[in-house]
Amino acid sequence: MKIYDAIIVGAGHNGLACAAHLARKGWTTCVLEQSSAIGGAVRTEPFTLPGYRHDFGAMNLSLFAGSAFHKLYADELKLHGFALAPASDCFASVFPDGRWFGVSTDLEKTVARLARLSERDAEAWRRLVAAFPGEAALIFAVLGSPMTARALAGLAWKAWRSAGVGGALKLVRLLLSSPRAWLDQQFENDAVKATLAAWGMHLDFAPDIAGGAVFPYLESMAGQAFGLVIGKGGADTMIRAMEGMLQADGGVIRTDARVEQIIVENGRATGVRLAGGETLQARRAVVATVAPRALAAGLLPNGSGDAAFDKAARDFRHAPGTMMIHLALDGLPDWSAGAELQRFAYVHLAPSLDMMARTYQQAIAGALPDEPVLVVGQPTAIDPTRAPDGKHVLWVQVRVLPAEIRSDAASRIAPDTWDVVKDAYADRALAIIERYAPGLSKKILGRAVFSPLDLERANPNLVGGDQICGSHHLSQNFLFRPVPGFAGWNTPVAHLHLAGAATWPGAGVGAASGFMLAQQLGGR
Ligand SMILES: Cc1cc2nc3c(=O)[nH]c(=O)nc-3n(C[C@H](O)[C@H](O)[C@H](O)COP(=O)(O)OP(=O)(O)OC[C@H]3O[C@@H](n4cnc5c(N)ncnc54)[C@H](O)[C@@H]3O)c2cc1C
Repeated sequence: MKIYDAIIVGAGHNGLACAAHLARKGWTTCVLEQSSAIGGAVRTEPFTLPGYRHDFGAMNLSLFAGSAFHKLYADELKLHGFALAPASDCFASVFPDGRWFGVSTDLEKTVARLARLSERDAEAWRRLVAAFPGEAALIFAVLGSPMTARALAGLAWKAWRSAGVGGALKLVRLLLSSPRAWLDQQFENDAVKATLAAWGMHLDFAPDIAGGAVFPYLESMAGQAFGLVIGKGGADTMIRAMEGMLQADGGVIRTDARVEQIIVENGRATGVRLAGGETLQARRAVVATVAPRALAAGLLPNGSGDAAFDKAARDFRHAPGTMMIHLALDGLPDWSAGAELQRFAYVHLAPSLDMMARTYQQAIAGALPDEPVLVVGQPTAIDPTRAPDGKHVLWVQVRVLPAEIRSDAASRIAPDTWDVVKDAYADRALAIIERYAPGLSKKILGRAVFSPLDLERANPNLVGGDQICGSHHLSQNFLFRPVPGFAGWNTPVAHLHLAGAATWPGAGVGAASGFMLAQQLGGR
């Protein structure tokens, strides 16, 4: 039987970051991945036609570029091929009446666009940008810190020291606010508010959900201050680099290796059993980067020994789903609102706060939204290497969708399984883009559609197509993520740790839970 210090379940970026740091600290590590490819939600493949590289999930690598893991290992990641393509035109929204607004790293450009919509909002933007460095330091300190009472006390002290009681309360208020509440306080123009609110929909924060304001705030200010980055050649540049780093330190990665059971002896995790029966032993830790329900649903067949934990893991709430549409194109979309839009990494089609709120409500109620929120990623506008000369790929995220379809809010598609309705629904999404960029359909050379069910088939962590592996609403975030009392990547089973997007600090490619846990186990 093979014996390692640590066995990591799942070769997503959190599992790889955890393994890479532990291996650097001298631990023998083995990463087990159920799929035939590593990367989890971060993979790049020619889904449509040869020569066209599409990011399966994450496209925006800004979180990884700004992460503590990247900061520590930047040189080595580079040595193993990690490369970024920066976007200075970060994100924009277009509106049915022909207006558009977008954020570029050139402050004067952003402000001029704002001033066309509202002079007052242009001034508000300047004020927010000026205050951002101070406020960001505190927010990033919260997001980069373990969720323990001790760490929280330290953060409160730091906030009080640097910002006073007023500043600390302002931060807490921002963290608790809904996107709409915060946007209404800052801006007057509807297009400006909608452009920023679309960032809440990347997670599961429709405009009226408490706790969502911080995402529009951070994404807009970070876009303005630092720009946005994507992977050169594909998002998998970060995965290949971590793989190289880990293997250079003797770490083992096995694909087509689904962990069926975590072996527990005398209340302590001692290894895993793979589908097929092989067992591997872990001397010091088993780290599962899985959705919590997977523990209750089979990985721990006799439970964790703590009935309350098992119930909470079973009840872990997933967010609505996503559909991904990948297109190989003859040319970028001809946005009728303005040719400048072809330069942006993301163009959001989410024209009002009320539309976003309605779409979210429809998805929650099991209805196919009549008009979904669309995130149109234009990676080849930033990184032409992803497609043959003069050609392009489009990365279209359809937010937010029900896992199980009960009805169609537009009353045109008969409710059925995703396998049956996915093409008809993808047509609805593409028809919306066509309204804003006439002629798109004639430019399509190839198309690949992943329904919410397809996403889950590819990666069981994406339950019901939930791209963030669990709602980030306040009742399941901070000290409550993934389960109250277990926010520190611990479980009731000794030596068994739960990390990954389902755990604090949540989804995104910041490698934060995997890296913070590895530091806790193996030292800094
Ligand atoms: C469509 C989509 C778009 C996104 N866009 C962005 C973006 O632009 N920017 C951003 O920052 N974030 C984005 N995200 C979110 C981000 O990609 C994820 O939050 C992040 O990649 C999660 O990483 P992880 O390592 O925690 O888990 P995952 O990437 O989900 O990896 C977990 C791995 O565990 C494996 N696994 C599960 N169970 C088992 C088992 N029993 N045995 C063996 N292996 C197992 C899975 O196959 C998977 O490979 C997106 C996600 C999706 C799905």
